[in-house]
Formats: sequence, structure tokens, C-alpha cells
Amino acid sequence: MLTLSDLPLRDDLRGKEPYGAPQLAVDVALNVNENSHPVPPAVVDAVRRGVDAQLRGLNRYPDREFTRLRELLLTYVQDFSSRQSGDGSTPADFLTADWLWAANGSNEVLSHILQAFGGPGRTALGFVPSYSMHPLITQSTGARWIAVDRGEDFSLSAETAAAAVREHHPDVVFLCTPNNPTGGGLPAEVIEAVLHASTGIVIVDEAYAEFARPGYTTAVHLLRENPRLVVSRTMSKAFAFAGVRLGYAIAHPAVTDALRLVRLPYHLSALTQAAACAALEHTPVLLDNVEALIAERDRMVTALSELGFDVAETDANFVLFGGVSDTRLLWQRLLDAGVLIRDIGIPGHLRVNAGTTEETTAFIEAISAIVAAHPETLENL
Ligand SMILES: *Cc1c(COP(=O)(O)O)cnc(C)c1O
Repeated sequence: MLTLSDLPLRDDLRGKEPYGAPQLAVDVALNVNENSHPVPPAVVDAVRRGVDAQLRGLNRYPDREFTRLRELLLTYVQDFSSRQSGDGSTPADFLTADWLWAANGSNEVLSHILQAFGGPGRTALGFVPSYSMHPLITQSTGARWIAVDRGEDFSLSAETAAAAVREHHPDVVFLCTPNNPTGGGLPAEVIEAVLHASTGIVIVDEAYAEFARPGYTTAVHLLRENPRLVVSRTMSKAFAFAGVRLGYAIAHPAVTDALRLVRLPYHLSALTQAAACAALEHTPVLLDNVEALIAERDRMVTALSELGFDVAETDANFVLFGGVSDTRLLWQRLLDAGVLIRDIGIPGHLRVNAGTTEETTAFIEAISAIVAAHPETLENL
């Protein structure tokens, strides 16, 4: 039988593993940080109308510049920054629609950035553990990945981050805040120190920004002074829109111009644009569940701590917990109880995302029962 090794595959792709979070049919799926709440009925209706209006025109290519979508994203980004500042200021009012970019998921946005600024002979650096797609996207463009370890408690100091950037002078730096899979946000001074130390592109991946605790600030306001900064976001998490595939970035118009060199023509279909626009016209309804998910996340943090696990600080819609004696066994026991969570390969740790109230309760009950029946689940016992 023909296998991969028989094909004239690129040498640098030989032996690589594809992204592969298990997609299993289970009652309670808390493994890929999706929003557990279905799209609200008002948004379903709006999306249906928006998509319907496009159908007869599908003989034509879509708007290559996704003009309306960029305008709606701009409004959302500015509103988010103003709400976060909390003092009536408008820290993102310098932005215009030229600063917005979008693609089929923020993974594609990141891929555009690495195609334009990475590629053969170049390097991208990240602070691990972090999002597993950052190295895969980097390497897919032929660039070399440089992994720098975070501290013992997964924290990252401004000094460590800046020193690593000065040592390796990468073409691209990835910062992920709130960080997947560890959950915590980065202090603003870390981002500023990296921007100061770097001569390349600095990507701040803010996929979970909407779930952050008070005190977290988006890097968007730093764009005014830092034209090599790119802030990436997604509609896959807080917006409950993972199935549509819509990610976006905010960056200097010269940077978004660079991305036009590498995107495929008409990369955002008319249906994707229509669905995303309809959703963005209903952001308050869509984001309604964010508060509920934060409450469920915090309930998980409390329950896991009380059971005796080491729980990492979290600004995201998920929780990383350590102190697990056998991650594979606990993962399987939870799956046997109908609850799918994620083994992200950090020894002694597992990650679980906040669910609906029922799902969160199911997880807490299942893991409590497992620990009661098998106290050795906890590594310090
Ligand atoms: C989920 C996630 C994304 C989003 O990916 P999409 O392609 O937009 O679905 C991006 N970055 C991180 C860190 C994530 O966890």
C-alpha cells in the first residue's frame, strides 16, 4: 500500500504529525475550547437571512476586500478596547478599516503572516508551552521554530522574554495572551519589552481576550506606536462561531498590504462573509454567554483545587490542572464517563474547557467520583 514515505514529500515535512485533537462523539465535549452554547436563535435567523441574500449571486466571486466585514470588525475592536479601558476613553480610535484583516479562522491569519514574514531561511520564536499550531504554521512555510521555555509556573517575565528575543533575533515572535494551554494573560510590560527588543514582526494571539479577568489589557492600543505588531483574534471562542471559520487581525495597513501578497484570491467566501457580518451585527447577544462561561470556568477552578489538583491561573475559557499521576488514565476514565477533555502533552497536566452549567457539573461530578474511587489519581498521594 502506498504510504506517505513513498511520496516525494518536502524533506522538512517528513516525520511531522498533523494537528489532531480527537473528534469523538461524546455527551460532554470539553476538549477544544469551543463555546459550549449554541448560536442564539436571533443570530441564527440573521445569519440565515444574510446567507440567503447571497445565494443567487454565487455565480460571481465574492468581495475580495471583504469591505463590510472589515468595517464591522473595526467597530467591534474599538468597542472592545473602549469597554476594557473602563474610563470612557477610546484607546483604539486611531484605527480605520485598513488596519483589519480576516481569514478562514485565525489559524489562516497566522499562516498569512508567516507566509509573508517567515518562510525559508527565517525563524519564528515562541514561549512554550503555548498553542501547538504556532510551530506547525511556522514550519509549514519553511521557517525554523525556536522554542523558549516559560518558567516553572508557566509565567514569562519581561526580562526572560526580551533576553530570548535579543539572543535569537527571530523574524517573527509569537506571544499568546491569554495563553493556550496554560490560561494566564501576559502583563503589558512583557509585550512592550518584546516589542522593544525585536526587529521583526510580533504577533500577539488574543484568541481568548473576551474571557480575561479584570486587569488584562488587549495589545491593540500598542499598535499606534508599533507598526510591526500584529494582534490576532477569532470568532471561534467567545463568539460561538467556530464552525464558520472566521479569524481576524489588527495591524498597520502596510502589514495588511503584505498579507495581500500571500492570500489566495477571494479567500473569504461570500457565505462566510455574510454569516460573519450577520453575527457581528448581533455581538451583544452572541457575547451574552461569555459571563456564564467565566462563572463556569471559575467553578471548575474551585472544584479542582478542592480536590487537590494544582490549578493554573486562567484568563481563558479553559483550565489547566496539574498534579495528575497518570494523565492518560485519568483522560480515559473521564472519557468512559462521557466527558472528553484534552491531554496537551504537559507531564502531569490536563486541560478542560468551561461548559454549560450542565456540562461543567457533569465534569466535576465525574472527576470527583474518579478521585474518590482512585485517590492515587493525585500524584502527591
Ligand atoms: C483556538 C485558538 C485559535 C483560533 O483558531 P481559529 O482558527 O480561529 O479557530 C487561535 N489561537 C489560539 C491560541 C487558540 O487557542
